[in-house]
Amino acid sequence: MTVPHDDLAVRAESLACSYDAVPAVVDLSLEVVSGELFAILGPSGCGKTTALRLIAGFERPHAGRLTLFHDVVAAPGVHVPPERRGVGLVFQDYALFPHMNVGENVAYGVGARASDPRVRDALALTGLAGFAERRVHELSGGEQQRVALARALAPRPRLLLLDEPFSNLDPALRARVRAEVRAIVKRAGTTAILVTHDQEEALSIADRVAFMWRGRIEQVGRPNQVYERPATVHAAEFIGDANIYRTAARDGRVMTPWGEYPAPAGQGASVVVVRPEDVELRADGVPGTVEAREYYGHDQLLHVRLDDGTHVRVRVGPRVRTDGDRVALALRAAPTVLAVPPDPADASARPNDPLER
Ligand code: ATP
Repeated sequence: MTVPHDDLAVRAESLACSYDAVPAVVDLSLEVVSGELFAILGPSGCGKTTALRLIAGFERPHAGRLTLFHDVVAAPGVHVPPERRGVGLVFQDYALFPHMNVGENVAYGVGARASDPRVRDALALTGLAGFAERRVHELSGGEQQRVALARALAPRPRLLLLDEPFSNLDPALRARVRAEVRAIVKRAGTTAILVTHDQEEALSIADRVAFMWRGRIEQVGRPNQVYERPATVHAAEFIGDANIYRTAARDGRVMTPWGEYPAPAGQGASVVVVRPEDVELRADGVPGTVEAREYYGHDQLLHVRLDDGTHVRVRVGPRVRTDGDRVALALRAAPTVLAVPPDPADASARPNDPLER
């Protein structure tokens, strides 16, 4: 995506950061558009928190350049300290002061009294107008989350950084608070970057998602793009549920139980990615046997062994009943076929594995 220069809130160019000899961020390049809610998604240890700390200014990159709203804030010989970057932060544990009430906690964010209009505005923005006198321990997890957000927004930052902000909430509350946080951030008109290892969270809340793996961004796109068209094997494996088949491309094609499909690399190690919801039961499909069923209420997952030995997970509606254990499977959409990068340390790079996970 090419972003007009005026609209850029964040531009990271090849940032690198190591702790002692441990590389945490290897080559971080990304662009965040002004007003956007941008998620960095990746597994534990991939460098997400370090990426946020670099943007906030708590870490200095060993290489690369970081520009916030046209100001270069980190580059060789340049380091603008955190307090001069205009960035607000919300942490996983909220870091609220238990001995202060809500108004005082939010006032702390602006270094002012609780009567300051910026505190009143931030409380109103987050739906906490009547809560100023309440003690933090009297609040629910979702309300505490909003206090943390109010405190970060009170100084009217140009950029808000959120580090796993929902992980302390129980699952029932999480979806609701997520939607609230998105609405508040959009109302405030602030650019925001959220980091999370929870793909559902990233896909449901963000305007765009960056998938991070071992210190690098592997793919950036709108939620449906990264889900429907994963660019790398890691993205396909990590984001959503997928049947992943390692195979070898020959003459630009890969062979699957459903026929041949074009492969991006002419030859060599490839993977075929089939989402369980892209498989359907169809009389003229490829025959197999149901080995197990997982019933979830809203849908069910069938584990099917095709007669050629390939294992396929199939997502079907809750009312689908199979006539005995014999079924036939067809694809609703062509699978995604990806070339496997030549990384000898990466287990997924082994060619010629059997066509199954
Ligand atoms: P998580 O989701 O588990 O919080 P993350 O994706 O946020 O992980 P980081 O916290 O950025 O990842 O860590 C990236 C790598 O850097 C990891 O290997 C981690 O062990 C290492 N690391 C992070 N902080 C430090 C530190 N202060 N000293 C040494 N190593 C560190």
